[in-house]
Amino acid sequence: MRGIVFDIDDTLYCRQDMLVIAAEKVLGVKVPDRPLFISIFYEKSDINMAGLESGEISTHDINGWRYNETFRLLGLPYTPDDGGKAADAYLELQSHMALSEDMKKALDAFAADPDTKLAILTAGESNHQWNKVVMLGLDKWFDRANVIVTGDVGISKPDVRLCRMIEEKLGLTPDELWMIGDNYDKDIVGAIDSGWHSVWINRRNLPLPERLPDCEVRTDDELTQLLLKGFA
Ligand SMILES: [Mg+2]
Repeated sequence: MRGIVFDIDDTLYCRQDMLVIAAEKVLGVKVPDRPLFISIFYEKSDINMAGLESGEISTHDINGWRYNETFRLLGLPYTPDDGGKAADAYLELQSHMALSEDMKKALDAFAADPDTKLAILTAGESNHQWNKVVMLGLDKWFDRANVIVTGDVGISKPDVRLCRMIEEKLGLTPDELWMIGDNYDKDIVGAIDSGWHSVWINRRNLPLPERLPDCEVRTDDELTQLLLKGFA
């Protein structure tokens, strides 16, 4: 028996493209260096995560602030209202988000396999993350009892208690579990600290860290190829 535990953002679907498209729409210019834009936006995303998870700050407000900070640091032309507008545009794009056909096929195969159990471990504000479960149609493959949103439990990634909660839910031991995620410090460190296997989606081509995941992929295609092979 094995358990496969997915992060949502930039793992089950690619969030990065939507963030940049929303910014370009509002600013009316092309973002000159996409990887740098994403890298700054994501650095800002690690700040205030606790406030977001506790519901003190809304996802919309924090995204507006992250956008304005990113615009400012990149020297892009913006007014203080643009961050909020970009956050609106991003939410609008998110309402049309979908899994890729290959990801759906991989999940179909896992769901049909009696020796595989599926779960989700995602960080963020409760409502916002549960909306993504609905919009991406994840109920088709994941039992809601096996979905943990950090905003619901008051513990942040990479705390090993989150992994222990999943082990209990699935009735599996650490060596039977695989974490699939894009954030090395949150998803992969948590998995390694918990004695789990891991697949790191290294979308930003970051240098390989000292403590290695079991597998590293760099694109959605590489990820779904690995998943479709059954990998573990
Ligand atoms: Mg993620």
